[in-house]
Amino acid sequence: MNKVCIDEVSLANKRVLIRVDFNVPLEQGRVTDDTRIRETLSTIRYARHQKARVILCSHLGRPKGKPSPELSLRPVAVRLSALLGEPVGMAEDCVGETVHEAVAKLSAGEVLLLENLRFHPEEEQNGAEFSRALAGLCDVYVNDAFGAAHRAHASTAGITRFVPVAAAGFLLRREVEHLGKLLTAPEHPFVAVLGGAKVSDKIGVLQNLIGKVDTFLLGGAMAYTFLKAVGCSVGSSLVEEDKLAVARETMKAARAAKVAFLPASDHVVAERIQPNPPTRVVDGPEIPEGWMALDIGPKTREAFAVVIRGARTILWNGPMGVFEVPPFHEGTWAIAAAIASSGATSIIGGGDTAAAVTRAGVADKMTHISTGGGASLEFLEGKELPGIAALTDKK
Ligand code: ADP
Ligand code: MG
Repeated sequence: MNKVCIDEVSLANKRVLIRVDFNVPLEQGRVTDDTRIRETLSTIRYARHQKARVILCSHLGRPKGKPSPELSLRPVAVRLSALLGEPVGMAEDCVGETVHEAVAKLSAGEVLLLENLRFHPEEEQNGAEFSRALAGLCDVYVNDAFGAAHRAHASTAGITRFVPVAAAGFLLRREVEHLGKLLTAPEHPFVAVLGGAKVSDKIGVLQNLIGKVDTFLLGGAMAYTFLKAVGCSVGSSLVEEDKLAVARETMKAARAAKVAFLPASDHVVAERIQPNPPTRVVDGPEIPEGWMALDIGPKTREAFAVVIRGARTILWNGPMGVFEVPPFHEGTWAIAAAIASSGATSIIGGGDTAAAVTRAGVADKMTHISTGGGASLEFLEGKELPGIAALTDKK
């Protein structure tokens, strides 16, 4: 990575503000999935051991620029404290006099979590005064919030203009190294397994990977826009009518680049999405009227597994079916198992795909599970992420 990293900066006794992505799911004031917190522990622990005075800041949810008690980061401070085995202080706000006082009281190795950045509209507006106020809290700024790096906000971009050094945290560096290698130096064969809800979410990634991957495997709802585009009957499967033309162009470009493009060839169909409804397997391009494809069929699972077994690098983004509703998880589980036992470098992107891999019980078999949904997509589209671009360049 061509940006300064936290381990290249002296932290002892400095006030170190770390932008983290603690945008975690909460239910009744409790954190229900602490993956994002755990993924950034290495950075926080490192800063503590270097005797930094550690200040953490994050957004949570969409409070629309005003304080909202149910989106307080307090429950996160509780969970973080349990994970660290150390007390974590909680500030009442993220800027202002009381925060300055709390920061001034921090001794080396102590941790203070600031309140939700998005309680202030200036955070998402990337306001200069707000950026300056955040910068005023610290001597060193560190960005470890890969999940927010695609946003040019005050705490991810604006702040870097007002601090002496803006360094990458370990999680951000891990993400950039794993995802970056897919684009610059993947080991071949490189197979991209794409699925999920919408073509429009993933088309940019598909296009950017043409010429880089050897094979596309296509499942999930997005496969049906591609299948319809080549004249298949897709019944009442999800289709983005306004994406048929771009789907055709993309397939043409893949053909021209000699990239294999394999959409699902058989399908588990039902009349509606509900747990355990009557289902049929349709083999071939004719899904009957009134039936919708909700999972890849057994032949597709086997065909995809064969390609996966031969891969050296695999990117998986997007579940193969409606994995939240049984039995339409089976295709996704089969692909998860195939990737887990492939021996290939396996990179997982997308929030739902990460959840599926976890529920399938194979998360620890994957090389890297990205913590950034939108950020990982934009990265793989080849875009420069503002939160990364704004960091201090290595000399
Ligand atoms: P990710 O978060 O990993 O990027 P997406 O958000 O793109 O994945 O897609 C996940 C969603 O796609 C899931 O909610 C799943 O139910 C839905 N989905 C997958 N296959 C189908 C299908 N055949 N029909 C309808 N929805 C589908
Ligand atoms: Mg999703």
